[in-house]
Amino acid sequence: MTEATNKKNLLGLPQSELEQFFVSIGEKPFRARQLMQWVYQRGVADFARMSDLSLKLREKLKSSAELGLSKEELRQDSADGTVKWLFSSGSGQAVETVFIPEASRGTLCISSQVGCALDCAFCATGAQGFNRNLSAAEIIGQVWHAMTQLPRRPNGDAAVSNIVFMGMGEPLANYRNLIPVLELLVSDWAYGLSRRRVTVSTSGIVSNIDKLADDCNVALAVSLHAPNDELRNRLVPINKMHPIRDLLDSCWRYAAKHSNRFITFEYVMLRDVNDSLEHADQLAALLENKPAKVNLIPFNSFKGNEFKRSSAETIRHFQDRLRERGLVATTRKTRGDDIDAACGQLAGKVSDRVRTRLGEKKVRLAVG
Ligand code: SAH
Ligand code: SF4
Repeated sequence: MTEATNKKNLLGLPQSELEQFFVSIGEKPFRARQLMQWVYQRGVADFARMSDLSLKLREKLKSSAELGLSKEELRQDSADGTVKWLFSSGSGQAVETVFIPEASRGTLCISSQVGCALDCAFCATGAQGFNRNLSAAEIIGQVWHAMTQLPRRPNGDAAVSNIVFMGMGEPLANYRNLIPVLELLVSDWAYGLSRRRVTVSTSGIVSNIDKLADDCNVALAVSLHAPNDELRNRLVPINKMHPIRDLLDSCWRYAAKHSNRFITFEYVMLRDVNDSLEHADQLAALLENKPAKVNLIPFNSFKGNEFKRSSAETIRHFQDRLRERGLVATTRKTRGDDIDAACGQLAGKVSDRVRTRLGEKKVRLAVG
């Protein structure tokens, strides 16, 4: 969070609003595109360094505007290359961002809210409750930080090739701030990512899935986690408002609007809760012959939670059964174990932060 000033925060503004801002200070709208290139493509947040803007304009910007970047509280580097950042949210709770490098891509997992109100039974973010929505600046700022800190790949590409909204919070519950961020991620004047490389993950806010289909058709992942309403009501309480049938209908509408692009269904594997072959059959029946892929997520435990992770063997059998039924099914690899960077472990409380701050130096030294 930035300190309150009278200056206009230009970070996270969609192009149209940035153009309006330049017009309001007596400048041409195309200055917005120049500024976006400096900030998002070159990672420059200091107006003074924007050398193709006149000195007069740079002065004007300095006095009337700012690029309000969140304060990085902590960076942890895992032995496997995963990086986790904690940003201050100003409210005692921190916000987390995780980078996961792989041979062919680099995925940045970003947060959309401080905490989450949806209270899924197996999620550390849900367990900490809801504090507030992140602003567009605070969300895109996570990408800015990662892009400016991480070295480029050996072939010259940016380290981050994919963005997933799978950090803290429910992105479709912060819709107003999500849309400008998505615009910047795919804009040629900002990060220029393909829509397929940006994934919004939702536990199923049906009306906003429909809106998203019209506003910014990025890739969609849906946290299903149970193949029947009775079980899903317990695991993902928003199901009581939007039951599976309604949720799936909205998914198929979403896919149909975009030439049947596949929807990914996330399914956390909880021992003896949702991991039997009968559950796999029920799940297959829901998704068969639809543009659907299933991603099984081994449950990541956290303090104070009773669930257990299904065994590797159970997960393999479950996946095999889905494949036998003709579905595309994969199992997520767990990364960044040594820094608690996995899905559902992002809780980022201040008390944790103080504790991990001491551990941080050790981790960094260990990886040189
Ligand atoms: N709120 C959104 C996005 C953030 S959560 C959503 O629910 O989709 C990202 C993913 O992590 C979701 O699929 C979520 O269900 C999963 N997840 C939450 N807690 C987890 C845990 N403890 N172990 C494994 N996955 C978890
Ligand atoms: Fe919120 Fe997603 Fe966690 Fe559910 S799984 S509590 S929607 S962050």
